[in-house]
Amino acid sequence: MNTRSLFRICNKLIRPSIACTPCRHAGTYKTVKRPDPSTLKMPAPGTAPKLMEIIKEKIRLKGPLSVAEYMHIVITNPTEGYYMKKETIGESGDFITSPEISQLFGEIVAIWFYAETQKMGMGPGKPLQIVELGPGKGTLMSDVLRVLHRLGYKPNDLSLHLVEISDTMQTVQAHRLCASHKGCEVDSPHYCEGETTSGIKVYWYYDLKKIPCNFSWYIAHEFFDVLPIHKFEKTEEGWRELLIDIDENEKLYYRISAKETNNVTNLIRPPLDGGDRTELEAFHKHKVVNPLENPGASDLTADVDFSQLRVAASMTPGDENYALVVGPVTQKEFLRRTQAEARLKVLIDHAKSDEQKETLKAAYEMLIDPEKMGERFKFMAFYPSAMAAILEKYPPIGFSNLEKETK
Ligand code: SAH
Repeated sequence: MNTRSLFRICNKLIRPSIACTPCRHAGTYKTVKRPDPSTLKMPAPGTAPKLMEIIKEKIRLKGPLSVAEYMHIVITNPTEGYYMKKETIGESGDFITSPEISQLFGEIVAIWFYAETQKMGMGPGKPLQIVELGPGKGTLMSDVLRVLHRLGYKPNDLSLHLVEISDTMQTVQAHRLCASHKGCEVDSPHYCEGETTSGIKVYWYYDLKKIPCNFSWYIAHEFFDVLPIHKFEKTEEGWRELLIDIDENEKLYYRISAKETNNVTNLIRPPLDGGDRTELEAFHKHKVVNPLENPGASDLTADVDFSQLRVAASMTPGDENYALVVGPVTQKEFLRRTQAEARLKVLIDHAKSDEQKETLKAAYEMLIDPEKMGERFKFMAFYPSAMAAILEKYPPIGFSNLEKETK
C-alpha cells in the first residue's frame, strides 16, 4: 500500500470523530510527553548500534539490500559511517590520494582551470565560484588557492563551495582553509560558512543543488567512486540485480535477485545498458578486504566506469544543457601533457635541502609510475556545450584532440 492511500484510510477513520463530536472528544487531545529537542544528541561513536546490527535489522525488516543501499549506510551513517568517525585519508589512514602526496597535483589542476577559463575570456577580476565535491582534508583546495593568488585572483573575485557529507571531514577542511568558521541555521542553503585568512568566503553544503548558479569551476577528485552504486548481472533470464542478504550463519552474502528489480527496470536501458561493468571493492589500511565484513571500518569504492559517466553527461545533444566530455586520460599522461615535469624542476630548483629535492622527486614518481598511481587514476573534463567552437580552435589542454575524444 502506498503512503497516500494509507493517509486516505487514516483520514476516513479520524475525520468523523473530529467533525461530529468535537466537544465530547476535546478533552482527549492531550499533549503527550516527548523529549525536549534541544537536549537530543546523536549517540557518541562507539555507543551507537554497530553498523552490522543496523544492516542486519534492515534486511530482516525489509528483505535484501541493494549494493547502493548498503554503500549508503556504510559510508554515510551519521555516527558509524566510514567517513564520519575518523580521518581516513593520509599515511596513517586507509588510503592516500594524489593531492596529499605532492603539492604539484593541486598546482597543475589550478593552472589547467586557469588556462581553460582564459579561452572563454574569463579570468582574474571576474567573479568565480570554485566548487569541490568531497574535498577530503582540503589539501587540493589550499594548493589551488595558492596558485590563484599568484595568478592575480583577488579574494573578492573568489568564493569556495564545498559539498561534504561528513561533519568530521568538514571540520578538518575548515581548520585547513579558514581563519574562522561557524555552523548555519537549518533553513540556510549551506550548513556551515567560514572565511580564509585572505578573506575568501567558504560555504559547505550537503546538497550540490543548493549551490548558487554562477560561473563555476567544479572539481571532483576521488569522489565518484564513493557514491553508492547498483550492481547488475546478465543472466539467462535477463538482467538481475546483485543484492546483499544474511545467510544461515548470520553472515552477509551476495545473491542475485530472483526477479527483475525496479532498479533493473529504471536504470538498465539504452544507452546505459552497459550492465555489470562496475565492481565493488573495499580498502582498509591500503589492502583490499571483503566489503561485507566489518562495515564502516573500511572504505567502499566503486570501480567507476568512466565511459558510462561520459554517456550520462553528454546524453542529450541538441538540448542546451549537455556537456562536452573529454578523457579519460591516465594521470601519468595528463601530467605529462600539462608539463608537470617543468613545474617539478622549478620546485626542485627552489628546494631548501637535498632531502627536500628527493622528497619532491619521489612524490612525483609515485604520481606517474604506472605501477602506483600513474595508470590507475584518470582525468576527465566536462565543458559547457556553448564552448564547442572555442574548443575546436583551442583543444583542451592535457587531453588529446577534442574531436577524437568525443567520438
Ligand atoms: N578529494 C579528496 C578526498 C577524497 S575521499 C582527495 O582527493 O584527497 C572522498 C571525500 O568525499 C571525503 O571527504 C568524504 O567525506 C566525502 N564524501 C563521501 N560521500 C559523500 C557524499 N555522498 N556527498 C558528499 N561528500 C561525500
